[in-house]
Amino acid sequence: MFKRFCLLFPLFLFIALSFVASSPRADSTEDFTVWLQGVRSEAMTRGIRKSTLDAALKDLAPIERVLELDSKQPEFTQTFWSYLDKRVTDTRIERGRRLLRENATLLHDIEQRYGVEGRYLVSFWGLETNFGDYTGGFPVIGALATLAHNPRRADFFRSQLFDALKILDEGHISPEAMMGSWAGAMGQPQFMPSTFAHYAVDFDGDGRRDIWNSLPDIFASAANYLSKSGWQPNQPWGEEVTLPLGFDLEQADLSFRKSIDWWRQAGVRRSDGAPLAGDDATASILLPAGWQGPAFLVRRNFRTILIWNRSNLYAVAVGHLADRLVDGGPFLARRPANDLPMSRTQVESLQQLLADRGFAPGPVDGVIGSQTRQAIKDFQRQAGLPIDGHPSPELIEQIGAGR
Ligand code: CA
Repeated sequence: MFKRFCLLFPLFLFIALSFVASSPRADSTEDFTVWLQGVRSEAMTRGIRKSTLDAALKDLAPIERVLELDSKQPEFTQTFWSYLDKRVTDTRIERGRRLLRENATLLHDIEQRYGVEGRYLVSFWGLETNFGDYTGGFPVIGALATLAHNPRRADFFRSQLFDALKILDEGHISPEAMMGSWAGAMGQPQFMPSTFAHYAVDFDGDGRRDIWNSLPDIFASAANYLSKSGWQPNQPWGEEVTLPLGFDLEQADLSFRKSIDWWRQAGVRRSDGAPLAGDDATASILLPAGWQGPAFLVRRNFRTILIWNRSNLYAVAVGHLADRLVDGGPFLARRPANDLPMSRTQVESLQQLLADRGFAPGPVDGVIGSQTRQAIKDFQRQAGLPIDGHPSPELIEQIGAGR
């Protein structure tokens, strides 16, 4: 037996060494080149010129850093206040107010044309790229090709890649100047190529839709996107409110939509004492930090902001910064004494505890999604706790204690 193994051993060694010699990286480079040929052929059939493809795809290789960033998971969830404090800062408010004044004429023209108020356009601009300071240091074609070649979300990024090649083919920007985020969000409003394809406009009339350098194009493209996504002119995004005693927390849900009048009659008041203004048949109550945190009555424009970026915290920050650029003050809700974020591990234990107790939080992945929120609500209902679906370190103790 031993003898036979000795005879076979050089063979094992040979196989093992061959694996070492052909490293996965060499394989994937070869594979990438072949894959890119397929992209090139398909782009040609989509009518993109050879000269554009030659310039855009020359020396293209996967960008390791893009894959790293794509697989990176945040270590902590962000609390409402930490998210807001980072984005709606005094410096940003000051600068936004100045930029709003400096671009008043342009923003007025754009508001006339698209029905989106300038303060919102400046707010998006401030939150996306700090008014054009940080547009991302990645070549868009390289980043998109890397993600389209990776199996994880290949179809989505392949389609974005063709849109990006079309943008180059139409001459809106040069391949060298087409920079963006690691995930391919481009220019000062951070549009994905498909958003550009549908909504970017040439407002300064030079024939190019330039969301990298032209302020008229940047603002008008953002306004056109919002307008086509359902923006309601002269309507608030939402306001901070006080809920009546005994408010049914299960009504604090974006899918529970009522008219402003309905909410008024239910006893919902603006926190600053002003009357609830306007009319909107689709207003909802949002509790982004749970029942003990601030409450907002959010309207249709809030839902339009969610089309731009599907994050409630982002949408509150956009609306709040826009208000602060004109006459709005800071939120009035009291901050919690200790505003602790939850770690990924804590979220995972929360999900595991919920699953162990027979609730359905979805996969134990450390990410708070709608399934996890629903499972929290189910637990809270059963335990006789306020039903806000909000995860917290306290909640882990409460579920754990019931075991
Ligand atoms: Ca232009």
